[in-house]
Amino acid sequence: MNHSKTLRCLVLLVLAPLAAWAADPAKWAEDHVDQLVPIYQHLHANPELSLHEVETARLVAKELRAAGAAVTTGIGGHGLVGVLENGDGKRLLIRTDLDALPIVEETGLPYASRVRTENPEGDGTVGVMHACGHDLHMTNLIGVARYLAENRDRWRGTILLVGQPAEERVLGAKAMLDDGLYERFGKPDFALALHVAAELPAGTIAHRAGFSSAASDVVDIVVRGAGGHGARPHTTKDPIVQAAQLILALQTIVSRQIDPVEPAVVTVGAIHGGTKHNIIPDTCELKLTVRTYSEAVRDQIHEAIAQRAAGIAESMGAPPPEVRATRQVDAVFNEPALVERLVPVFRREVGETRVIEVPPSMTSEDFGVFGRGGVPIFMFGLGTATAERFKLRDGSCSLHTPRYQPEVRPALVAGIAAMSAAALELLAP
Ligand code: ZN
Ligand code: ZN
Repeated sequence: MNHSKTLRCLVLLVLAPLAAWAADPAKWAEDHVDQLVPIYQHLHANPELSLHEVETARLVAKELRAAGAAVTTGIGGHGLVGVLENGDGKRLLIRTDLDALPIVEETGLPYASRVRTENPEGDGTVGVMHACGHDLHMTNLIGVARYLAENRDRWRGTILLVGQPAEERVLGAKAMLDDGLYERFGKPDFALALHVAAELPAGTIAHRAGFSSAASDVVDIVVRGAGGHGARPHTTKDPIVQAAQLILALQTIVSRQIDPVEPAVVTVGAIHGGTKHNIIPDTCELKLTVRTYSEAVRDQIHEAIAQRAAGIAESMGAPPPEVRATRQVDAVFNEPALVERLVPVFRREVGETRVIEVPPSMTSEDFGVFGRGGVPIFMFGLGTATAERFKLRDGSCSLHTPRYQPEVRPALVAGIAAMSAAALELLAP
């Protein structure tokens, strides 16, 4: 061995642990976050509504391609999938959502959205804002793709990087699966996703085994009566009074009819009837959201709503109401074995105290659809709040508000570290 060879060996010996350290997901995320922040800010400033994610999908596709993935677009609408292949092994799906909300942003940030668009639900224009953090989810996925593409020696198998449209309308996951996502790209052995948790400290990871978010259904009720002069109620069948009775009766479904240990919500979110003080209208419309975990409870609630609506109409001698229930999305069930396997990985990667178990929530999410055909799924939370901002109670630490403002850098670092480390664990050579 000549002198220069010895020197090279020595250098390699010294650098080898350093190289391993530099390829550690948390370290990599720290080192590369500054390159990702401009992508985040661009996505934030250019949001698109559900089913209109044209430019967003284009950008995510471009970035995944640049990272080395083979990208297919136009799956279930504006959905896309980037495939990273690295020999034989398991198949892991990682999902981001793409869409934003019809909200006029009020954060005052230099990269705040000024986008206005046609209101898809009615007349005029609406603002558009990433008020649910999907911009952070996309940037996270791009970071994870770059990390995994650069560190192929650390994993084996296939990674499906999925950009899903229309999450806010709980349509996109189903649309992608119905468009043959699993038939065309292979059924995954696991599916992972993260979602920002606005009320948790930035950089924390939140997990829940089992049910984590609820099934969501909508019910539209048209209460029917017979209108007339407001001063001659005895000649009418007042649908407003009927609707008022029905709203209160609906509140006894959960409190009196459902097993108290079963989570369930019945909310009347909208009521529309009448035009003027002294006119009793013919009809009154109610819009409900129903949230449940158990399928049996779900059926029980739908039956109870129809029963109460019909019963109250009958008791008032009014025509039967129209009750239209639409099942929107099933509950998300995080596979306990998968959660158990990944929580220690998160602890190691982002720190023991920054990984927290959280209670289940009655909000909804269509990520559960990726569990179709028995695919074990796990969606975890990513904290984005700062202590100072949290104290303000101004909506900057709440999702779906015009003032939602995530703490971007620490959230991105933790999100990329946790998701990449999870991929390394599940696809270990
Ligand atoms: Zn969301
Ligand atoms: Zn949302």
